Amino acid sequence: MSIAENLRIIRERISRAAETAGRPAGGITIIAISKTFPPESISEAIGAGQRIFGENRVQEAESKLGFFEATPGIEWHLVGHLQSNKAKSAAELFHVVHSLDSVRLAARLNDACIALKKTLPVLIQVDLGKEETKHGISKEDVPDLIVAVSAMSGLRLNGLMTLPPYFEDPELARPFFCELRTLRDDLEREQPGCLGQEHLSMGMSHDYEVAIQEGATMVRIGTAIFGQRSYGE
Ligand SMILES: *Cc1c(COP(=O)(O)O)cnc(C)c1O
Repeated sequence: MSIAENLRIIRERISRAAETAGRPAGGITIIAISKTFPPESISEAIGAGQRIFGENRVQEAESKLGFFEATPGIEWHLVGHLQSNKAKSAAELFHVVHSLDSVRLAARLNDACIALKKTLPVLIQVDLGKEETKHGISKEDVPDLIVAVSAMSGLRLNGLMTLPPYFEDPELARPFFCELRTLRDDLEREQPGCLGQEHLSMGMSHDYEVAIQEGATMVRIGTAIFGQRSYGE
């Protein structure tokens, strides 16, 4: 199926999931995860009306984003782990970072943003799965990171992100999505406004409907739009 057809189906399914959850479909943004796919695929998605794209590696983004400099209104989100030494490039390239997970990284990003005279919206990636291979900050450490980022003029906190362990059955991811929403609600109750627009970035190709039922406002969808990824070419 074409990328345009995939996007049409996903938008429909999002509307239906939102409706079941009693939420407006307009409150849910698709981040099209284009990692490993060539600029041609991204162009096809743009042709089908998609404007927001996500990449998970700074280096790969560096080689792709240039193709779209002349295309107005395209937004790039970084959804993968960011090393502090790549913070400067990330601050230059991306409009939003979903993977903020330490005070040290926040400080590096902030310095870069101040030098660039830009304010970068960031989401805190919370590690709820406690898997050793996953990145993200533990739930207990989130409040300290919020306090640190609040004092950084180059960054603007905009919500929370999580990447649960992979489950074949999307229902098994539900407790993680629910936990992230509860964490956001608790933090906002303690300190209203501390998470900016309070976004919840959660849900991928195989579980975005469950994530939407649990309150996702940004779903990060790759394979369901672009097809299977092939690595190692
Ligand atoms: C690759 C990736 C996605 C998209 O995964 P799909 O299963 O292809 O939809 C979402 N979030 C992050 C952080 C990713 O790295």
